[in-house]
Amino acid sequence: RCGFVAIVGRPNVGKSTLMNHLIGQKISITSKKAQTTRHKVTGIYTDDTAQLVFVDTPGFQTNHRNALNDRLNLNVTEAVSGVDVIAFVIEAMRFTDADRVVLKQLPKHTPVLLVVNKIDKDKAKDKSALDAFIAEVRAEFDFAGAEVVSAKHGLRIANLLETLKPFL
Ligand code: GDP
Ligand code: MG
Repeated sequence: RCGFVAIVGRPNVGKSTLMNHLIGQKISITSKKAQTTRHKVTGIYTDDTAQLVFVDTPGFQTNHRNALNDRLNLNVTEAVSGVDVIAFVIEAMRFTDADRVVLKQLPKHTPVLLVVNKIDKDKAKDKSALDAFIAEVRAEFDFAGAEVVSAKHGLRIANLLETLKPFL
């Protein structure tokens, strides 16, 4: 199998950190500061059964319009068009209007996998609360599936890769 995976989400949910772990290399810029990633960066993961080409994206800018934000949003739209599956990343226990704005801009006919990141955080350690949170988010959008990860600590990354493969 071979195909493209776009990683999308509002700024600071951990998209770049996740991609670094997915492909096992530090090729994307991560930072506490929003807007660090200004251009799409691709990375390729290969194993015996599949090749996944990842497209990291700048976060959708939702707060205000200006020339830079417009360009960032254009880059995102470009990055997601024609991919096989979209990994929509959010923070555990935190689903905001900024996340919803990103969801609304995704193409209608591409499967979207919900990726709940930062499960290492204290507030995400209560399993039933995390399950309830995921159910609430899934009730708002027709996701093709859901996975939980900690990009920073490299938790359940292999699992996410396996979940992505059938979409290629
Ligand atoms: P992006 O804007 O979505 O690309 O987010 P980044 O990958 O640049 O990460 C934003 C911030 O979140 C950085 O300070 C990361 O270290 C932090 N971060 C990313 N993943 C995790 C995680 O799994 N757990 C925790 N606690 N922090 C994370
Ligand atoms: Mg980034």
